[in-house]
Amino acid sequence: MANNEDQFKKVVSHAKEYGYVFQSSEIYDGLSAVYDYAQNGVELKKNIRNYWWKAMVQMHENIVGLDAAIFMHPTTWKASGHVDAFNDPLIDNKDSKKRYRADVLIEDYVGKLDTKIEKEVAKAAKRFGEAFNKEEFLATNPRVIGYKEKGDAILQRMGKSLENEDLADVKLLIEELGIGCPLSGSKNWTDVKQFNLMFGTKLGASADTAMDLYLRPETAQGIFVNFSNVQKTGRMKIPFGIAQTGKAFRNEIVARQFIFRMREFEQMEMQFFVRPGTQKEWYEKWKENRLKWHLSLGMGEDNYRFHDHEKLAHYADAASDIEFRFPFGFKELEGIHSRTDFDLKAHEEHSGKKLQYFDPEINEHYVPYVVETSIGLDRMFLAVFSNSLQEEELENGSTRTVLKLPSVLAPTKAAILPLVKKDGLPEVARKIVEDLKWDFNVTYDEKDAVGRRYRRQDAAGTPFCITVDHDTLNDNSVTIRYRDTMEQKRVKIEELRSIIKEDVDVKNWLMKM
Ligand code: ATP
Repeated sequence: MANNEDQFKKVVSHAKEYGYVFQSSEIYDGLSAVYDYAQNGVELKKNIRNYWWKAMVQMHENIVGLDAAIFMHPTTWKASGHVDAFNDPLIDNKDSKKRYRADVLIEDYVGKLDTKIEKEVAKAAKRFGEAFNKEEFLATNPRVIGYKEKGDAILQRMGKSLENEDLADVKLLIEELGIGCPLSGSKNWTDVKQFNLMFGTKLGASADTAMDLYLRPETAQGIFVNFSNVQKTGRMKIPFGIAQTGKAFRNEIVARQFIFRMREFEQMEMQFFVRPGTQKEWYEKWKENRLKWHLSLGMGEDNYRFHDHEKLAHYADAASDIEFRFPFGFKELEGIHSRTDFDLKAHEEHSGKKLQYFDPEINEHYVPYVVETSIGLDRMFLAVFSNSLQEEELENGSTRTVLKLPSVLAPTKAAILPLVKKDGLPEVARKIVEDLKWDFNVTYDEKDAVGRRYRRQDAAGTPFCITVDHDTLNDNSVTIRYRDTMEQKRVKIEELRSIIKEDVDVKNWLMKM
């Protein structure tokens, strides 16, 4: 645990030191759970967004994009259920005065049971060696079964109590499990209360006529209210999807995990409209497709798992999270939800407009069902960044800090370095920059010894360093150094473009899906 905490602290400080993420308004001591993306962060974030957009929109004939406004008519949020039900159950500790989400306290308790299971698996794997069968062990080991049953029973009870608005039982559950305040250990809790997460604001100049608005808490509703417009103008045939990326705002009760849980964040969502009755099939397809997208980035199959929901949101008939192993444990990275016809129907009722589709194949009008994939861009950023940050022991006994970002996402693809700042080498290096910058984000660096520059680029996540030396002037060759292996090769300047392209091309990465 201490190690993980240390690792997480390193992630946060590295993100600042290398120009990825700054605290918002830092000169005024920051604003809680609000962050700014710096010179490298903005590139990484854009690359993640593009990687998603390419896979979700441009590679699918039947999925189109949208960019809806953040402000929406306030009735939207009445219809969607957010005004009445977008609440989190909060609980205060009377001694430490700290506020928590009651469901998160309970989920973290269950998370500890999962960790115990993982430890049992690791122990057994060591004991049995090659003969170890994980599936069989999970299904038969009494201790593991005990932890699993206990965890499932807790989540089931919590789900039921939250669904029935039985907040007294949620508190009772916390007490029965002996959950203490994570900071102080105190078990002196207040009652559990509901807290609405939407930020309110006003539209209009005069106090009497101003209209109460909300900052959107999810991007999905912008898609639902545009369903008919897009379907008709795009002549879309079911099944089809509408995707968008954009800001969402939630007044989170607890926001202590860097960019994992922010009050202003960005979502990448896709709503897939299907014929009623086929939603289960599409839900399974999208679960599989989204996991493949994650795996294509090569960040380790063991770092992902599905978590099927016990407690379903008011709009869903099935829901699953793709969880990722963050430095603080497995947590939700993306949600795949079968949202039924809840949203479109609700908007029909509140607007009085039909949101239906005429299906020529079965000669029927209906309100489509929806399967949604919803991922937090900032959370994806954290997953990529924290997974990539590594300390490596080198053969000579020293260590290096290297940010092994998937090269397709790296902010800068190559750094061009003249070995020395004289003898015409900077001019050649600059020429290479001028040439490559049409295709890739590249940088020029001439300060410090070349070894120091390599380390700086390793820590910033740049996959290639290209060094121009005196031989370059005669043979038109440069040394290319690979970030991950530190291997160095002599190549012709004309080859650089194709070497880099092969490695960073979105196509080559997405083909792994
Ligand atoms: P959580 O249970 O962690 O609060 P959620 O289930 O409310 O998340 P959804 O409403 O399903 O989240 O939102 C879809 C995705 O948006 C999440 O999987 C997550 O990646 C991202 N997301 C949600 N809330 C935040 C936040 N406060 N900060 C950053 N990303 C967020």
